[in-house]
Amino acid sequence: MDSLPPPPAERLAPVGELTWRNRLVTLFEMPTTAELSDPQRAGEQCMWCAAHSVELRPLEGMLGWEPRACAPCFEARAAKVKTYTEWAGHVECCRECTNGPRCAAAGPLAEAHAVAFEAARSGRLVICSRCRDQVDVRDPLIMPVRWIGMTLPVHGYVHSPKCQAPPPDKGRQYELPPIGLPAGPTPSADEGGDR
Ligand SMILES: [Zn+2]
Ligand SMILES: [Zn+2]
Ligand SMILES: [Zn+2]
Repeated sequence: MDSLPPPPAERLAPVGELTWRNRLVTLFEMPTTAELSDPQRAGEQCMWCAAHSVELRPLEGMLGWEPRACAPCFEARAAKVKTYTEWAGHVECCRECTNGPRCAAAGPLAEAHAVAFEAARSGRLVICSRCRDQVDVRDPLIMPVRWIGMTLPVHGYVHSPKCQAPPPDKGRQYELPPIGLPAGPTPSADEGGDR
């Protein structure tokens, strides 16, 4: 009995999974140049820890430099980006999450991100992109908000729906999009009279 040949795999995967994850980690997790040591800029030390071992793997570089990272740091950062993306993808389509307390379906997504966040950074604090307060990533009122910044996409966090205030001018770097979806017929009430 004849069987059809399988389709060529290369047509289905124009970019390998490792390359794709590598680009996401570089885009959202790379320290700023000012934060890097000389060995890190030379690709001789992990971007995120003190490892100088032969285990370093290349990351996507910019302008000819070749950053490298150890496997545990890379996997931790990749998990952080992945769990953020999954959570944000839910929130952006969920009226409950964008207008009130987190919905039941979002709980496990937020928890998975909190675990990955702590594993990647050894900390729990994020900054609300609107009010600039530090807040625990496990706070049930925090939610992800992503937008296109001046030149790159940004993975941010905001209080929801508690914090609707515009960010203070001194900390302002980006124009934030409005939070989430409309709650239905919304009265256009202006809060506060200060300009
Ligand atoms: Zn490392
Ligand atoms: Zn939800
Ligand atoms: Zn806030």
